[in-house]
Amino acid sequence: MTRSSVLELLQSDKILQEVTVNGWVRTFRSNRFIALNDGSTINNIQCVVDFEKTDEAIIKRITTGAAVSIKGTLVESQGKGQNVEIQVSEIQILGDSNPDEFPIQPKKHSLEFLRENAHLRVRTNTFSAVMRVRSALSFAVHKYFQENGFNYVNTPIITGSDAEGAGEMFGVSTFETNKAPVDENGNIDYKQDFFGKETNLTVSGQLEAETFAMALGKVYTFGPTFRAENSNTTRHLAEFWMIEPEVAFMDLDGNMDLAEDFIKSVLAYVLENCKDDLAFLDQRLTDEEKVKPQAERSEMTLLEKLRFITENNFKRVSYTEAIDILRNSKPNKKKKFQFPINEWGADLQSEHERFLVEKHFKCPVILFDYPATIKAFYMRLNEDGKTVRAMDVLFPGIGEIVGGSQREERLDVLKEKMAALDIDEKELWWYLDLRKYGTAVHSGFGLGFERLVQFATGMGNIRDVIPFPRSPQNAEF
Ligand code: ATP
Ligand code: MN
Repeated sequence: MTRSSVLELLQSDKILQEVTVNGWVRTFRSNRFIALNDGSTINNIQCVVDFEKTDEAIIKRITTGAAVSIKGTLVESQGKGQNVEIQVSEIQILGDSNPDEFPIQPKKHSLEFLRENAHLRVRTNTFSAVMRVRSALSFAVHKYFQENGFNYVNTPIITGSDAEGAGEMFGVSTFETNKAPVDENGNIDYKQDFFGKETNLTVSGQLEAETFAMALGKVYTFGPTFRAENSNTTRHLAEFWMIEPEVAFMDLDGNMDLAEDFIKSVLAYVLENCKDDLAFLDQRLTDEEKVKPQAERSEMTLLEKLRFITENNFKRVSYTEAIDILRNSKPNKKKKFQFPINEWGADLQSEHERFLVEKHFKCPVILFDYPATIKAFYMRLNEDGKTVRAMDVLFPGIGEIVGGSQREERLDVLKEKMAALDIDEKELWWYLDLRKYGTAVHSGFGLGFERLVQFATGMGNIRDVIPFPRSPQNAEF
């Protein structure tokens, strides 16, 4: 007899048939009712044990966390809460779990406690739901791009260019700590290192993706990126996954259209395909919000927020307009912002982004045309000479979810920008080559996958949407 998954059984019409299912015991009530889960769905299947016919020694071993194999008859359930259940005819203990030691007890655990037990937390309803949604979202990402003519490109994880400019980097070296050779100036002599030069873990695949866009037209990356930034926030990880589309012959307007369409499409996919998990996460968030003070509570439930995104247009606002709004805003006048907004040119902090999205516009916002001084060297300079064709997509509860731009395609302008910022042309000779041979308007953006998963699942901390989070002082597992 072939083995079924719990999902198959709960959806099946195999009533009165013999079935086999393997899984882990979530709870065992009254020496009779096993709630069995195998990860195929958030829902458990109830397995009813006839304790008069079952060896007492076996009954004792049916404990929370144990792995079991069950044979029995699928029947319509008499009890509440499920349509079908299994009348067990044979139960085999595959792996015992000591109930006094197993950390995941059938009760509510704090997210902090579960983070310390990240190897087991996926056995809880919350984390299994989050991880199934994460998996579905990553499929949706590939589906969207593959159906829209994009090629998937794997940009390097070890990078030899230190001009990516998106943040602090982790070094990659085979030198032994404290034994690295030094040159005559006392600096570490990377010529003797594995790659013969200083190398780091990538903070973005963009520059390499641009080279592919200038040949394949439409490309995207979806891979790990690393930032050694010491920011202990609920939105930053030291290792995270980034999605970076890059498209030739597309300007900033096209870039905004792409970002909006992409986000709507992947969220619509999970709304359609993760109904049970999202219903659970929706309820979880609602319960969590209940204990918050009224003023901090969200006006929408998780499902409402997701539908709101898929059904409404993102508001497009220039940086200059946004600064006007912020400067005249109540929190600014009442000195409630930690970083007050005084003049044009100020970098926007998360508090400002969230004010615009959550209080002022009450919808996702795309800010564009930022001051050149606060954005990266590769962004295309506008005719005004002081703003660049940058865009950030800002989301409620998250702040920045996408950062992108139209790229500077003019060789002379790019060289000037690099010189002004002291970026060595020799470092980026290959990047400049793109502007020498068949240069063209092109654009792209970076979207932090975990921030998207955070939004889709309603989880407050980014460390709870990646299997094994890496953050300052934390690389267990
Ligand atoms: P932030 O201002 O939030 O730190 P950033 O300006 O450094 O973001 P970019 O360099 O534009 O971000 O990176 C593109 C996207 O990658 C961001 O919009 C965000 O979704 C994501 N991202 C950036 N840094 C992190 C991080 N440390 N952990 C998780 N996601 C990140
Ligand atoms: Mn950052």
